Amino acid sequence: MTTLEELMNAPAPASAWVLERDCAETGLDPQDIRDEMLRRIGEMRGSIERGLQSDARSITGMVGWNAKGLWDAPDVLNAPLLKRVQAYAMAVNEENARMGRIVAAPTAGSAGTIPGALLGVADHLGISDEKLVEPMILAAGVGKAISKRMFISGAAGGCQAEIGSSAAMAAAAVVELLGGTPRAAIHAASMALMNTIGLVCDPVGGYVEVPCVSRNAFFAVHAVSAAQLALAQLESFIPPDEVLGAMASVGRMMPAALRETADGGLAQTPTGLAVTARMEGQPQDGELPGGMVELPMA
Ligand code: SF4
Repeated sequence: MTTLEELMNAPAPASAWVLERDCAETGLDPQDIRDEMLRRIGEMRGSIERGLQSDARSITGMVGWNAKGLWDAPDVLNAPLLKRVQAYAMAVNEENARMGRIVAAPTAGSAGTIPGALLGVADHLGISDEKLVEPMILAAGVGKAISKRMFISGAAGGCQAEIGSSAAMAAAAVVELLGGTPRAAIHAASMALMNTIGLVCDPVGGYVEVPCVSRNAFFAVHAVSAAQLALAQLESFIPPDEVLGAMASVGRMMPAALRETADGGLAQTPTGLAVTARMEGQPQDGELPGGMVELPMA
């Protein structure tokens, strides 16, 4: 079984170790895996490009214009990396909400975090897609190690499991991309995980839109933050596999209402309930609470 500790102690680059193990397990050719990973990076890039250009609403009307809105807005903070990472992440998740083509990484709900962080950093620094193949292989190895120990879906373990996994995978990938050691990559993953513990899954109406789209923007930045700390030699105080154990334990304690059932949290706010009722065809009196949604399907 691959553990985060094994990955942390692998010879550099850790992606080569992941690839070797994967080929041994599956019998696949390493070049075929690399080619497939490059193809998936191309799919991620396609979803980013479409998402940044479209302001078409999702079927619920809750999302669809956020990525383009940010991308077209002035960079008031003079923080181009931040803006790029956030916009890329939301572009992918808004494509998902529009039923467009995305790469689940590891899930559809968290599909924007890795492209946001990894492609965002790469484009900011002028790094080609070919150089992202190895970091993506390490991300896959981290995801596999997480899945052996913990949940990776919101329904099983809350959003901490879903978006926490994607942020950890992204953080490790960014570290390898920027020349960090396997130890730094896994500590980045661990810090991303330990600072996501407890996050609940409460999608409004059960649709992977609110808070999911903005959540990917936040956690893509979270992944880059974890990578930056790890590249400066900061480490996770709790060992990475112990962090996974803690998250799994919290996931098991989490009530069903906070695990993608839309029975708690944001889904049960007046606005969340009004959106749900509208989507179920129930008549609504006047404006929706907050005035945030004007649904095209009434
Ligand atoms: S809130 Fe739930 S559905 Fe949305 S991204 Fe998180 S885990 Fe996925």
